[in-house]
Amino acid sequence: MSWPVEFGGQAASHVDRLVVTEELLRQGAPVAAHWVADRQIGPAILAYGTESLQRQYLPAIAAGTAYYCLGMSEPDAGSDLASVTTRATKVLGGWRVHGRKIWTSHAHRCTHAYLLVRTGERGADKHDGLTEMLTPMDVPGISVHPIPGLDGSHHFNELVLEDVFVPDDHILGTPGDGWQQVTRQLSFERGGAERVLSTYPLLSALLAEPAVRADEGAQRELGSLISTFTSLRWLYRRVAEAMDADAAPVGEAAAAKYLGTRFEKEVLQVVRKLAPRGQGAIGRLRDLAIQAAPSFGIRGGAEAVLLSIIAKQEFR
Ligand SMILES: Cc1cc2nc3c(=O)[nH]c(=O)nc-3n(C[C@H](O)[C@H](O)[C@H](O)COP(=O)(O)OP(=O)(O)OC[C@H]3O[C@@H](n4cnc5c(N)ncnc54)[C@H](O)[C@@H]3O)c2cc1C
Repeated sequence: MSWPVEFGGQAASHVDRLVVTEELLRQGAPVAAHWVADRQIGPAILAYGTESLQRQYLPAIAAGTAYYCLGMSEPDAGSDLASVTTRATKVLGGWRVHGRKIWTSHAHRCTHAYLLVRTGERGADKHDGLTEMLTPMDVPGISVHPIPGLDGSHHFNELVLEDVFVPDDHILGTPGDGWQQVTRQLSFERGGAERVLSTYPLLSALLAEPAVRADEGAQRELGSLISTFTSLRWLYRRVAEAMDADAAPVGEAAAAKYLGTRFEKEVLQVVRKLAPRGQGAIGRLRDLAIQAAPSFGIRGGAEAVLLSIIAKQEFR
């Protein structure tokens, strides 16, 4: 929605986009396939991609035919992304990439990957020498290995990169300057309504329970949740407004993610208390949320790391 019309977008604002995405999430719509590309890869291509990359890749994302996975985390680099060791070496016309990424959500279904790699030596500042690049998944040298979830589902993967050729025009921005860019991208990843609304369908099902509605103690608990939710809506709206002003709302996005994650867990706690044995829709949503809850505070940045980012920001 928020991309230029010439690339298949609607030139709408980020606040407009928020209105639509919030409604999709509120209804529990299946949105995962297009989420990463729409939320952060497209904006990264718009900000840092060459014109040929923009013309080649953005219309396919907008048309819903290209799906992106995120190759950031590695076995020894998750919270500390500056420690990535996947390496790209310069060759004629491009780069040769070797390394390993983990926790790559839905890589087995995606057509393209975003990669954060090391192209320069790790100097005094460990943030130097990082580079962002894109690659189709069907090029020689990429293999995808499933990492089964606790519930047996196939969501995570290990992405192995062996001598993968990435052409020069698939680099985002300037080689070696990737840290500033990825920081901005992470604020797009962290600051949206999806960091608050994972358990909203569950809250909504609880609100519809006649026994819960009739109970005064339950009403107090739900009232408290709803007032927190209202404050969080203002917070992620502020992030969208900052994006419209072309700012990188790093601190606000980290705060939205940290507080949103806590809210999602709180909803689950209240549901466990008020509807511990509920069946039907509420039982199904509760059981799904119990399985997913351990990941709320990890995906998109661990809680302790977000607190550290917030503490270092000067808020507007
Ligand atoms: C559902 C889900 C989907 C994911 N999808 C993707 C994906 O598609 N692509 C991708 O690249 N990654 C993905 N990840 C990985 C995720 O981003 C990392 O797991 C996360 O950044 C944490 O890194 P780590 O697992 O290496 O944990 P670690 O960095 O080892 O952290 C473990 C714990 O140590 C503590 N800790 C770490 N550093 C600090 C610090 N500096 N200060 C204080 N405490 C600290 C925190 O409590 C943290 O919870 C996904 C994760 C989940 C749960």
